[in-house]
Amino acid sequence: MHPWIEPQLVWKNGVVLHKDQTRAEVIEHYNQREIRVRVTGSRKKELLAVVTHELTKIHQSYERLQYDTLVPCNCEKKCRNSQTPYSYPLETLREFLDDREYLIQCQKSRQMVDVRRLIDDVLSQEIETEEKYHLRPDRPPTPAESLQRELEQAREKSLNRQARQSSMTETTTRDLVLISYSHKDKKWFDDLKTHLEPLVRGQNLKIWEDTQIRPGAIWRDEIEKALAAAKVAVLLVSPTFLSSKFINQNELPVLLDAAKTEGVHILWVPLQASNYKATAIEKYQAVYPTDRPLKQITAAKRDTAWVEVCSNITTAMSR
Ligand SMILES: [Zn+2]
Repeated sequence: MHPWIEPQLVWKNGVVLHKDQTRAEVIEHYNQREIRVRVTGSRKKELLAVVTHELTKIHQSYERLQYDTLVPCNCEKKCRNSQTPYSYPLETLREFLDDREYLIQCQKSRQMVDVRRLIDDVLSQEIETEEKYHLRPDRPPTPAESLQRELEQAREKSLNRQARQSSMTETTTRDLVLISYSHKDKKWFDDLKTHLEPLVRGQNLKIWEDTQIRPGAIWRDEIEKALAAAKVAVLLVSPTFLSSKFINQNELPVLLDAAKTEGVHILWVPLQASNYKATAIEKYQAVYPTDRPLKQITAAKRDTAWVEVCSNITTAMSR
């Protein structure tokens, strides 16, 4: 049993974790098919991030497990101190952000709630996966990452294992494919990812996806790390992609600058007819003919197109 688990507080469907005056209660509600996590105490954001990170790892080890992340409402009228607050699917909150809709209505109190603050509650303390972490080992860890590391150390001790050699000494090689897309085109990103999977496995290629939902400072830090390890940046271009303020003000300038100064190859895929000619993307060659955008061709042709895109990525990676 993990040393942070309170032995008297383990029951069939749940567990209480206790660390530095902070408690997390993790309960599986089997009938509702959900896991509820509640945290209290001084380091609750960090502990929540650690629990979420661990749950994500568990989810990812069951490939076909579908899951949604629900974010509890924080409205003052009803939910803030409630045991049963209203909850929003994280996916929906992301869509709101994409559309620059910053208010969402609580269905219990009818109060309007700030979407950014809801997301901030769950995401401001993201934890790097190990894969991402070794990209820039000199960066100081966030509080959540420190806690995550403490958890891992405690776990190792309790298992009486030798401390793992940290990956910090590894040198950074450019083996990363950075993929940028509008959240509305997520389905298309998933298609590409599926097609890339054999290359990820066979050629040790890594994918970094920019979901653009992190608060600015964290995003900036992460993209810098990603760029330091990226060899290829793939842009999934659609009108939504081009109209996104975030993409245009933050992401594109950073990517195109890295293309100039660090030799990151820019490959862009036309998903839909768009006014790309009015943007800086114009200067870069599309990896698939712009008069045959992927959303306009048949599914069979689209697979061929994705294979072609993948082969372009492989070529760019080996350059
Ligand atoms: Zn509410």
